[in-house]
Amino acid sequence: MEALNVPRPAWMTEDLTMLEDQARRFLAAELVPHVERWSETGIMDRSAWTRLGEAGLLCAGIPEEYGGAGGHFGHEAVINREIALAGLDSIGAPLHSGIVAPYILRYGTEEQKRRWLPRLATGDLIGAIAMTEPGTGSDLQSVRTTARRSGNGYVLNGSKTFITNGQHANLIIVVAKTDPSKGAKGTSLMVVETDDAPGFRRGRKLKKLGLDWADTSELFFEDVPLRADQLLGTEEGRGFAQLMSDLPQERLIVANAATGMIERALALTIAYVKERRAFGKAIVEFQNTEFVLAECKTEATIAKVFHDHCVGRHIAGELDTVTASMAKYWLTDLQNTIVDRCLQLFGGYGYMDEYPISRLYRDARVFRIYAGTNEMMKLLIARSL
Ligand SMILES: Cc1cc2nc3c(=O)[nH]c(=O)nc-3n(C[C@H](O)[C@H](O)[C@H](O)COP(=O)(O)OP(=O)(O)OC[C@H]3O[C@@H](n4cnc5c(N)ncnc54)[C@H](O)[C@@H]3O)c2cc1C
Repeated sequence: MEALNVPRPAWMTEDLTMLEDQARRFLAAELVPHVERWSETGIMDRSAWTRLGEAGLLCAGIPEEYGGAGGHFGHEAVINREIALAGLDSIGAPLHSGIVAPYILRYGTEEQKRRWLPRLATGDLIGAIAMTEPGTGSDLQSVRTTARRSGNGYVLNGSKTFITNGQHANLIIVVAKTDPSKGAKGTSLMVVETDDAPGFRRGRKLKKLGLDWADTSELFFEDVPLRADQLLGTEEGRGFAQLMSDLPQERLIVANAATGMIERALALTIAYVKERRAFGKAIVEFQNTEFVLAECKTEATIAKVFHDHCVGRHIAGELDTVTASMAKYWLTDLQNTIVDRCLQLFGGYGYMDEYPISRLYRDARVFRIYAGTNEMMKLLIARSL
């Protein structure tokens, strides 16, 4: 699957090379064989989460004292790339490990960290983050879900949609207004443990263009009682700032997957055009094929260098939101372009479900939309002009 010849970045230590190898073998043996079945059922087996936990592939960047593997973002990035190279685009594990768990690690009280992180690391808890609502996505300040004070705790009301891991998740960070009169400053992150939570209901597992076995779902909260310590941290109204300061990592996780999917598309295509023949020669021998793939390989190389640079800066704690937004927007736009150009070289077979390039094409589309649309990324970048 190594279609590119980019030197390994300095942050790719021996430890990470071993993790890469371990993740590659585990995913190929334990998850890839089930993808066809999961695509039909529209959801991965619950037990696969536990197996990922047992293999140490959940919460790799969480300190050992909280049950994680004690690594840093480089560990997450390596696992995310392997997931993409294996064609497991629908999996919600990068969000669980790289977004949900870090919110708890960064903003939770000591007691909250000890309560939730070890169980996220084993896969006993599956994480989700519920920001988007039927009426608002990009405009996060307009969320209507409320967490109103009631006795010693809160009561949560609202509905969310498009939530990754929505069917399996049993620890959901919900963006809610604790003070609707204050806009962003009245926003808080509420942690809902859904097992036996009264008033919590899962809606439909949504049918989608791609990510066939991602259990993207609607969620409903009707007078769900929460204890005071289900507010993440100790202070109300911090939610928006917490969301904003974790954005670089969220964007980089999407960029990890986009870069891995570009590599996979190229590798699949190069193999195919060497095999397939027309007019008495291999497709790769047509100058058009050579030029298209030469262009794709050049752009993919630039993408990987930029991606590796951003990961290195993030590990060093130096990645700013603007650069992370550039990575998310540019790499996912490029991912869509390259996957489309690769698919064309498969001819009609590229349109057939049984050819992985067709699934890659469908899966790639959402990368320009979720984790903040690429238009929102450009708005953010433009603010730095
Ligand atoms: C498969 C999938 C998984 C998802 N997983 C999650 C999840 O786990 N948790 C979660 O909370 N959400 C999730 N989402 C939701 C996703 O983050 C939102 O769909 C996304 O942020 C866009 O919001 P929206 O759909 O409401 O679009 P809108 O905000 O309605 O945007 C519609 C269009 O208008 C553009 N637009 C909006 N505002 C501006 C502006 N100011 N300037 C220029 N253009 C603008 C947008 O770029 C877009 O093109 C998921 C979505 C999908 C499809």
